[in-house]
Amino acid sequence: MSRKKEDTAIVESNKLTDPYASMLSRFHAAADRLGISADEREILSRPAEIHIAYLPVAMDDGHIRVFEAYRVIHSRALGPGKGGIRYAPEVNMREVMALAAWMTWKCAVVNIPYGGAKGGITCEPKKMSLGELERLTRAYTRAMSKVFGPDKDIPAPDMGTSAREMAWIVDEYSRLYEGNFIPAVVTGKPLELGGSKGRVEATGRGVTTVILQALQRIGRRPEGLTAAVQGFGNVGSITAKYLSQSGIRVVAISDKTGGYYNEGGILIHQAIQYRDSHGGVLEGFKGGERITNEQLLTLDVDILVPAALEDQITPQNAPNIKAWLIAEGANGPTTAEADPILNGKGIMVIPDILANAGGVIVSYYEWVQNRRGHYYTESEVQERADNTIKQAFDEVFTRAAAQKVSLREAAYLIAVERVVRALRMHGKY
Ligand code: GLU
Repeated sequence: MSRKKEDTAIVESNKLTDPYASMLSRFHAAADRLGISADEREILSRPAEIHIAYLPVAMDDGHIRVFEAYRVIHSRALGPGKGGIRYAPEVNMREVMALAAWMTWKCAVVNIPYGGAKGGITCEPKKMSLGELERLTRAYTRAMSKVFGPDKDIPAPDMGTSAREMAWIVDEYSRLYEGNFIPAVVTGKPLELGGSKGRVEATGRGVTTVILQALQRIGRRPEGLTAAVQGFGNVGSITAKYLSQSGIRVVAISDKTGGYYNEGGILIHQAIQYRDSHGGVLEGFKGGERITNEQLLTLDVDILVPAALEDQITPQNAPNIKAWLIAEGANGPTTAEADPILNGKGIMVIPDILANAGGVIVSYYEWVQNRRGHYYTESEVQERADNTIKQAFDEVFTRAAAQKVSLREAAYLIAVERVVRALRMHGKY
């Protein structure tokens, strides 16, 4: 092994669950296998840029609150930085660093011409008024106005943000550039401001598409299989909806208020309606008996979809997981130490950088449409996105079989190889 020990504080942490450490360990494993140089490892084991801003925002009660905000560009080797912006109370820099790097590998594995980036603001969006959120988002856009750009770094929604925030970003950014409307600076916008049909559902649709593709490759039919979905935000709820439409019985769902189990299958459209009319949470939902999030992860189901936060599947609970297929809707839901346990149990894990790539794939089509000024129908978008993610799945599946490695290792091999090749072509620094 030619790995150099990382020597700066930024890539070290003593925390037990550290998403950046999980990302690095998988990157280094792929780098070992590919035999990439120590210099290239040095570059890719660190973010290219970290931007931090302290954003003063006038709150409704008249006082000023200062929010800590980040934008991390991990790599631009394959194209401009690309990745969402997360609004959540637990957002921190190492998490955003990991999320940015995962975007690099994600865009590479599905072969779209982007690097990787991510943004985050430590805040509690559910406790903020519309006006406060708008002022915060505009302040962030102003602070990052030299970082963002249609050919430089293109943000998108992530946890705690949606088309609404993207609309404020495109508006504020366009104002800063003398009123030139620049929709390609951000994706996941509302349709009225240059968004793409199919973008809202894209990630959950992609998760379902790769699950169905995996089943097909191993000769199983979806009908009669059961699934548990952790997380009921954009990714979890739409995955649950598509899974149940494909004949898979979704017996459990959950959000931060806990889990809901129904052996006969949860009525997903009812759960979505309930969530939307109850402040965005499932608390009080009667369509299933209450279980804990921990119980949900270890249910006796065929398919498990962790679509909430990082670090949910750990060495502690991995031995108790009974599903034989896991599709990672969230970014980083499995810690690196849990990987060998899942592999040892023969569980097939469709890794995050492949399973949840449907969102950024449609973001790419949105950006293409903005630049061409020509817009696709919903079925055109879906057909392209389905084909792209299926093809990526097949490449990963074939590589895994050929090299006798897990799907995660195969996905990293493909992604790291593509990024390193581009890095070499850029030339010496
Ligand atoms: N936040 C999403 C992700 O983690 C989408 C990113 C994008 O569309 O740029 O993949």
